[in-house]
Amino acid sequence: MANRKPKWLSAKYNKHDVEKLNLMLDELSLNTVCNEANCPNIGECYKKETATFLIMGNNCTRHCKFCAVSKEATLPLNSEEPENVAIASKRLELKHIVITSVTRDDLEDGGASHYVKTIFAIKKALPESTIEVLIPDLNGKEQNLDKIIAAKPDVINHNIETVPSLYAEVRPEADYKMSLGVIKYVKAKDPGIITKTGIMLGLGETEAEVLKVMDDLVNIECDIFTIGQYLQPSKNHIPVKEYIHPEKFDEYKRIGEKKGLRYIASSPLVRSSYNALHAIEKIKGE
Ligand code: SF4
Ligand code: SF4
Repeated sequence: MANRKPKWLSAKYNKHDVEKLNLMLDELSLNTVCNEANCPNIGECYKKETATFLIMGNNCTRHCKFCAVSKEATLPLNSEEPENVAIASKRLELKHIVITSVTRDDLEDGGASHYVKTIFAIKKALPESTIEVLIPDLNGKEQNLDKIIAAKPDVINHNIETVPSLYAEVRPEADYKMSLGVIKYVKAKDPGIITKTGIMLGLGETEAEVLKVMDDLVNIECDIFTIGQYLQPSKNHIPVKEYIHPEKFDEYKRIGEKKGLRYIASSPLVRSSYNALHAIEKIKGE
């Protein structure tokens, strides 16, 4: 296990602002990943008018070893949730809304239709805002992916999370090739949708493995790649093997850009939706 957390992993935020926001989320029965995952960027993101809503409950049907989400039994979907996400986004005057969810292998379409309803509700309430969905693999089923693609969010993100050799240990119910296939399918079906994925470092991956992931992403024309440091949410989760130095993150960014990835966010505190709007504006402006 790695030593104490280095100082570059501490971020400050205004607790008062965050508490105010949490009150509203409670009132609308909404969850955000920002809170659920104790994300270190919470203050900065809210200031930049970005938030990540966690739909379809906070109990997951999978058991990833790094994830703080609860593994208790799932609950029925809340039919008011899509509208409530739109209401909260409007009250917060968000410019970029990220919608994500636990994996719901118990639902017939994996929750694809609930994503679609949420996308449409936000588009109606905030037509100028951009929408990013960070989706589970939906078991790689094209008919489920097709529903979400047809709703035309600006970005479809699916995180591969780690290098393939660590899947059995870190993401036991997932499949690296299936996850790559999800991203590839989206781009092939609608090249206008920005595709995105991300990994965490510090789980025991080698540099050669990270570079191979980049090659795989270039091959499937993935537009945005995020690289951040894994932080152990509790003692019951997989330990951090290594704290990667910020300079190494910078190096990965340079290498990935040279390989042909269009946008890379790479630094210890980068999370999937960190500075997401900037990435989209850059890609749309190219
Ligand atoms: Fe929320 Fe994502 Fe920002 Fe973290 S990086 S605070 S999860 S929007
Ligand atoms: Fe967490 Fe997603 Fe894995 Fe579920 S599928 S345990 S939400 S990372």
